[in-house]
Amino acid sequence: MTSINRREFLGQSGSCAAYLAFAASAMPLAARRAWARTPSGLVRREPFGNLEKVADGVWAMISTPLNGDSTTVSNGGIIAGRNGVLAIEGFNKTAGAQWLAGQCRELTGRWPTHVALTHYHSDHANGLSGYVSDTEHPIVHATARTRELVIEKNKPSGAALTTINKAVGINPTAPSTIDLGGKIVRVVPRNGHTDSDVTLELDDPSIVFCGDLFWNAMFPNFVDAMPTKLNASVNALKRSKDTLYVPGHGPLGHPAEYDRYIAMLGEVETAAKKAHTAGTSAADAAAKFTLPSSLGDWALFNKVFYQRAFEAWYKELT
Ligand SMILES: [Zn+2]
Repeated sequence: MTSINRREFLGQSGSCAAYLAFAASAMPLAARRAWARTPSGLVRREPFGNLEKVADGVWAMISTPLNGDSTTVSNGGIIAGRNGVLAIEGFNKTAGAQWLAGQCRELTGRWPTHVALTHYHSDHANGLSGYVSDTEHPIVHATARTRELVIEKNKPSGAALTTINKAVGINPTAPSTIDLGGKIVRVVPRNGHTDSDVTLELDDPSIVFCGDLFWNAMFPNFVDAMPTKLNASVNALKRSKDTLYVPGHGPLGHPAEYDRYIAMLGEVETAAKKAHTAGTSAADAAAKFTLPSSLGDWALFNKVFYQRAFEAWYKELT
C-alpha cells in the first residue's frame, strides 16, 4: 500500500472512496483509459466524470475518480419525465450534487424534483445537501435503514444532517414507484452490498441503476457485504432482455459485462468456501487467490481487497 497503511485502510468504514483512492494508485494505464474512454452518448466531460445520454430523458453519470478528482466518486444519473426529474445518488461532495443538479437544469429545464439514494456509503450520500438551496427542495428518497446508517456512520452535520433527516422513506419490503410523467421509475429494495440497497429501474427502455450491487471492471468493496444476500440480489436484478446496467462504479454494463460480474462473484464464492472447509485463514486464502484471466481485467491492486471478500464469506460460513 502506498500513502495510507494497511491498518488505517482496514479501519476506514462506510466508504468506497478510500478504496478507490487505493485502486487508482495501481490501476494499469490500459484499464484507466478504458474507464475514461470517450463514450458514444457523451454530453459532458469533467475531471471527475462523464455524463452520458443513454436514452431519451435518461443520463448516466460515470465517475472517473481514478484520475484523482473526488467530487462525485460514485456513478449516478438523471431520469426526466414530463412532470419531474429524478437525480440518482448524493455523490461524495456537495459540489458533485450541485453539478448534477445544474446539468438537470441545462438538459431538462428544471432542477431535480426528486433525489434517490441507493445506499448509505459516503461516496453516494455525503454530497446530498448540494441538491438543496433557498429555493429548491427536491424530495429525497431513502430507506429508513439507509437514513439511519448515513447518520450513524457518516456523521453528517448542518445542512447534510437536515437534508437526510427530511428524506421520505422508501418502502423497504416491496417495490414502489416514482411517477415522473411518461416515465415510471421502479424503486426496488434489495440488500447485500449493505444492509439496505435500492435499485432504480425502468422497463422500457430496459435500464437498471444498480447502485453498488454491480461493479463493472473493478473488484467490489465487501466492507459491509453479506455475500449470500449480495449474490441473491445480483441474480434477482438481472433481466432476460437486453438491458443497460448502470453500475455503482466503473463503466456502463451490458448483459455480457453483467454476466462476467456474476461469474467473478462465483469464483470468489467457490474459493472462499473451499478455503474455509480446508481451515485456511481468510488472509492466507486471499493472498493465494487470483481471478482467471478468462474473466478479463478487474482493477484490484492489493490482496487486502480479496481478504475483505473472504472475510465476508467466512462470517457467513462460520
Ligand atoms: Zn458502496
